Amino acid sequence: MRVYNFAAGPSTLPEEVLAEAQRDLLDFAGTGMSVTEISHRNKAFEAVVNEANALLRELMGIPEDYAVMFVQGGASQQFAAVPLNLMHTGKADYMVTGNFAKKAWQEGKIYGNAVKVADSSDKTYTYIPDVDEVTFSDDADYVHITSNNTIFGTRFTKFPETKAPLVADMSSDILSREIDVSKFGVIYAGAQKNVAPAGVTIVIAKRELIQSPLDICPTMLRWKVQDENNSLYNTPPCFPIYIAMLVLRRLKKLGGIKAINEINEYKAKMLYDFIDSSDFYTNSVVKKDRSIMNVPFVTPNADLDAKFVKEAGAAGLVSLKGHRLVGGMRASIYNAMPVEGVAALVDFMKKFELANK
Ligand SMILES: *Cc1c(COP(=O)(O)O)cnc(C)c1O
Repeated sequence: MRVYNFAAGPSTLPEEVLAEAQRDLLDFAGTGMSVTEISHRNKAFEAVVNEANALLRELMGIPEDYAVMFVQGGASQQFAAVPLNLMHTGKADYMVTGNFAKKAWQEGKIYGNAVKVADSSDKTYTYIPDVDEVTFSDDADYVHITSNNTIFGTRFTKFPETKAPLVADMSSDILSREIDVSKFGVIYAGAQKNVAPAGVTIVIAKRELIQSPLDICPTMLRWKVQDENNSLYNTPPCFPIYIAMLVLRRLKKLGGIKAINEINEYKAKMLYDFIDSSDFYTNSVVKKDRSIMNVPFVTPNADLDAKFVKEAGAAGLVSLKGHRLVGGMRASIYNAMPVEGVAALVDFMKKFELANK
């Protein structure tokens, strides 16, 4: 029996995608082999990379002059790839709005002057600093932000207007809401939140920005090389790219990002409205900055939190334990979480409240 899986990442995938992958597993595209067994140079696999690339471009409205790449190493590897490809004068601005944002900034410091231009750790990252109040450096090579903070449950609803190219880690909200890609220099995302199994990372970059990586940049981290080789410079993560293609096909069939965003807003509202109406559960994020992907919440005390996680798990609502930095619970309600899953969670929360108040 399938459970409702609220894990932050790797996370739930659409059931019909898993079923399709299962059907294909012994004989992919008439090859008599699974997609995990064929050469990445096989025409049947090249078609997968090309379709995933084309679907991502279509769904996100990615302009022609942007590269779309499928690479390895996770979003964390991109924390280094960003400065190694872009930090030409040795200076960049970082908005530190959460744990991953902080890690990106710390990695940037290895390569140059990574300036922390905003920091919301004073209130345990429960808000996004006003982007209009931030003073960006005049001579930065780029400005780095984390569009959705997976652990703390915040998101940017407005992106900063910057002179330097804007670089965004969108690991936990890519494809969940409409964005104007042309406003960004680079977007990257580990796929295991909203797109695919762990192992593939998406990089979208304006081509004119990626032509001169730093001399010390390893070949594998050179976006220019990945782009010129259509993500096939070396053996790519074939299976995750294949699943990404299936997820993107399904998203297109559903009506694209606009359609899924409406569903995501509906799911998030259902959960936040219930939390706000209750004096038992609390979400401490500033309302306007609340994520629609990751919803942290607590009961009145840590013992009840532990009981909640245990009993929810027994009821088929799994992986609700909050991140160790925050405690309590966190419901990750990515694109693949059905409305029924969130409704079942709210229903369980009501019953738990009545039984433990
Ligand atoms: C999960 C996550 C990461 C880390 O991704 P890895 O693929 O594990 O390196 C980085 N940034 C954000 C916003 C994330 O949610």
